[in-house]
Amino acid sequence: MMVRLDDYMDIVDDRTIAEIYQKAMPLIGTDLVHINSTYYGGGVAEILKALVPLMNDVGLDAGWRVLHGYPEFFGITKSFHNALQGEADIDLSPVTTTIYSETNKEFSIYTHLNHDFVIIHDPQPLPLIKYNRKKQPWFWRCHIDLSNPHDGLWRMLRRYIIRYDEVIVSNDSYKNPDLPISQTIIFPAIDPLSPKNIDLTDDEVDSEMDRMGIGMDKPIVTQISRFDKWKDPLGVIDIYLKVKQRVDCRLILCGSMASDDPEGYRIYDAVKEKAAQHIERGDISIIVNEKATAVNALQRRSDVVLQKSLKEGFGLTATEAMWKGTPVIASKVGGLSIQIEDGENGCLLAPHDMDGFVDRTVKLLRDDEIRSRMGEKARETVRKRFLIPRLLLDYLNLLGKHVNKG
Ligand code: UDP
Repeated sequence: MMVRLDDYMDIVDDRTIAEIYQKAMPLIGTDLVHINSTYYGGGVAEILKALVPLMNDVGLDAGWRVLHGYPEFFGITKSFHNALQGEADIDLSPVTTTIYSETNKEFSIYTHLNHDFVIIHDPQPLPLIKYNRKKQPWFWRCHIDLSNPHDGLWRMLRRYIIRYDEVIVSNDSYKNPDLPISQTIIFPAIDPLSPKNIDLTDDEVDSEMDRMGIGMDKPIVTQISRFDKWKDPLGVIDIYLKVKQRVDCRLILCGSMASDDPEGYRIYDAVKEKAAQHIERGDISIIVNEKATAVNALQRRSDVVLQKSLKEGFGLTATEAMWKGTPVIASKVGGLSIQIEDGENGCLLAPHDMDGFVDRTVKLLRDDEIRSRMGEKARETVRKRFLIPRLLLDYLNLLGKHVNKG
């Protein structure tokens, strides 16, 4: 069932809802399209699943198209993703850059963009702007941590970026001083009414946990993330093994494979190999490609959620756990620092501070009162700042600024 804006009235402040209806009025009937590169897996798909129906509900004709690409293309764009987040090793040979641009050129033939606005998500479909007859405002919405991009790659991408009307990033430090176009910050958000985040009864949670075969006899520590080196799942295992020497508990690593992320299987194998002994003993469970309700149950039932990312554009997994009142212990990187205030609504630690992660996890597992106090504050943080109606409002404000420019 598609949600409607008024379904959110009891969850967020009325003023936000009223402002959305007002800001939507001049945009009624406006045609816009979002383009990204996967329908499932990862934060962007999560956001679009919630945002696009709501845009339609308030009167816009909003669509969503997914870029077509071969595995080779997604291998290249994943290497771009890594290099934008600071990795030095990248192939920028003409063969590589040609596959990148030609895939977009080819897609432009399949997708005609006569809309009033075009919103391009992340680097995969970035070059499309060059191959379509642009006659409307285009926005490049980049969800990645851009604070330290690879120089050569940035120079190549910049040639496309400067054709856009505006760039949208998730954090002030991702703005690039060198761009001659305007840059705006929009924080991502979660949908409290989606199967991933909707309230579940204790029985529903228990039955999901049973179905996944997770014992609830011991405290549960969880990280939910794509199998990706930036999420450092191997580091999470190291932390868990040290925590377990002090508090007997279970570790759940729950991950999905995104169709635009070919590296996932390699990282998954490395995780399985490292945890093999503990998986056999039943201490560590690795859960792959579970449905949204299962992730929801896991985030609710876990005593502590870890997000030990080395880089993190925003980190919706943290937002989701916080919404469920589960304290998150996260690295002080990217968007995680925007969401968490250390010691208040969760814990923030330097990404390589292994002892810090261990100590905080032990401390929280031993103290119900701290967990519930942090969890309550975490839920309030998300209610005020990171729910989907606020994101919708930010987009309406952005479109409102550009209306009549098409
Ligand atoms: N996710 C999921 N199942 C998994 C792992 C992740 O549904 O096994 C979802 C997760 O709940 C979140 C999104 O994928 O909604 C990940 O978004 P995030 O911003 O944390 O990271 P990204 O994958 O975009 O880097």
